This record gives sequence, C-alpha cells and structure tokens, in this order.
Amino acid sequence: MPHSAAAQTTDNPTSLCQTAASQDWFEDDWACEVKGDGLAIAAPSQTAILADTLDDSVEQFESFFGPTTTKVAVVGASPLPPEGKQLLEEAGYVVLPWISKAARQRLVRASVERQVMEQTAALPEAQRQALLERALSQLEQGEADDNQAPSPTELGSLAHEAGHLLLKAMIDGAKTLPTGQIRYGSSAPDWLDELAAVLNENAELTSSRYDSARERLAEGKSPLSYTLEEFLTMEHPSLKAAELVRARQGGGGNVAIALSGDEAKRFLEQSGGDPVQFYVQARLFADFMLDATGNQQVFREITQAYSSDGDLADWLEENHAAYGLPSDTDALAVRLDEWVAARLKQDL
Ligand SMILES: [Zn+2]
Repeated sequence: MPHSAAAQTTDNPTSLCQTAASQDWFEDDWACEVKGDGLAIAAPSQTAILADTLDDSVEQFESFFGPTTTKVAVVGASPLPPEGKQLLEEAGYVVLPWISKAARQRLVRASVERQVMEQTAALPEAQRQALLERALSQLEQGEADDNQAPSPTELGSLAHEAGHLLLKAMIDGAKTLPTGQIRYGSSAPDWLDELAAVLNENAELTSSRYDSARERLAEGKSPLSYTLEEFLTMEHPSLKAAELVRARQGGGGNVAIALSGDEAKRFLEQSGGDPVQFYVQARLFADFMLDATGNQQVFREITQAYSSDGDLADWLEENHAAYGLPSDTDALAVRLDEWVAARLKQDL
C-alpha cells in the first residue's frame, strides 16, 4: 500500500495499522491495535489495554460533552514521530505519546549518567564511577520491564490527557488561537480544560483526588485551595512549565504532561506552583455541578456558553432557575463550600 493512503484508510482501521507498520518511523518491536475509537502503537503486550483505555475514554468524554467524531491514538514514543502523528491525524485521531515505565527508567538513568559525567569531568575516573554508582543507586529501585502491564495510575493519566485533546478537538477543531493568546490546552479557560481531563480519569485517580482533599481538610486547610472566582479565571499552575517544555521541543504541541518522579519534581519547580490542588478543585467543582444540576451534560452547555463568547456567570444568569442554582458565582461559591464539606464527611 502506498504511504500516502491515509485518507483511504480513515474508515478502515486494519489497513491504517498496516500502513503505519509499513512506514519508516514504525519500530520493529511495535504492534498496532485498534479497539473502537482507540488505537495503540506500542509493545505488543501493551497495545490491547492501551487501545481499550482510549476507546473507553472517548465514551466517557461523550457521556459528559456529547458525541464527537474524534478518535484517540497513542504511540509508544516521546517525542512523537512527526510522520506517524500526521498519518494518524489525517485518519481522524488525536495522538498522545506513551512512555512505558521501563522506557522512562532508561531515560532517567541516561539523564542522571549524563549529568554526573558532566559535573565530574575534572575528577579521576575511579572517583567519577563511584559518584555515578551512588547517584544511580538513589533512583527508583527495581527494573521495570517493557512487558509489564501499565499501572492503573498510568492508564488514568492517559485517559486524563485524552480528555484534554478531545475537548480541544471539540471546541477548536483546526482553529489556531489568536496571536498572543496562550492557554494550557485549548481555547477554553484553563479550569474547564482541566475539568474535562479530570472527568476522564479512572476510579484510581478520582479517589486520589478525594484523598488529597481530605488530607488538606485534616491539616486544617480548606480542600478548595482557590476561591471560585480565582479558579474560574486563573491560569493553569503548570502553564509556565508547559511553555518551557514546548519551547524546548521546538514549539510543537502534544506535550506529554504525564510525568513522574524526578521529571515531575523538576516540572513543579519550573512552574512555581503545585498543579495537584488545581486538579482537586476541578474534580470537586465538577462533581458539585453534576450533583447540583442532575445534568450529566451540564459542562457541554457551559462549554457552548464559552464558545459563544460567554462565561460561567452568563450561563448561570440564564439557567440558574431551571436548575435551582443561585444566580451569581459568589452565591454559587457558598453552595460549593457547603457541598464539599458534606461530601468529604460522607466517606470519612
Ligand atoms: Zn491536565
């Protein structure tokens, strides 16, 4: 099959995988698998669970935001091979990079080795090796192997990232942002962008969000780190770091923001803010609104309000009576506080 056949393979996932496998960027030890709206190109032992996770994540997204024609693919390489990304995008997929735990460990070890060797260039060889061994011994112990199944947390993070891309595809399509306007994911406000991602997470990540909220409560702090007004207008705490990563990667989008360990620590230092509390607040606000309105697709309506140049306050003014909500965001904030307090008490 000729390499330019992407358009013809749009409705034929098997031949899309065949086309992908015939191209130069497709590595020898990869497999390609399609499940419904999910596609995975990775180690053969991982493709089924990755493709399933993505198929589920499209379904989960649709349950909150309505039907989408966008499908999600993951490729076991970071950064993504540009030709592979293009082939999949032409076939209607948004594309995420995937790094297995084993591959991530190799990357971390390689970067530690590089750093130690750079910093110790002036020392005698035996001393350098001793320092290197000590640095490596401080890394996460135990070798992950490439065939190890992805953990629930990794799969939840993948679904989270899929949520970002699906929302962006839904509201922005091929549209680029006006010059000078920089947002974390899409042209939606950062809170809504993050909320779409958090709503796509699995049960493991969702309960970790509630654990974080309870921890803050136990420390005598409010589980909501920001006032509702701040939350609705703030920039994503990781925006600055994401921009740095983007710049380093040559300006291309599709940043893998599923980081862990050392990478995550560096990312947080660069961003100067802990995004975890932003995710927690997105989760709590989402669950509050779903519960208060009884409308599973309330954020679809709110997204539409933003798409037509409105905001949450406008949506609230127009729809509060139908849902029995207060008419402005200050009063909504009070209701949110009460709901959170009651909700966190429930499961204690
Ligand atoms: Zn996110």
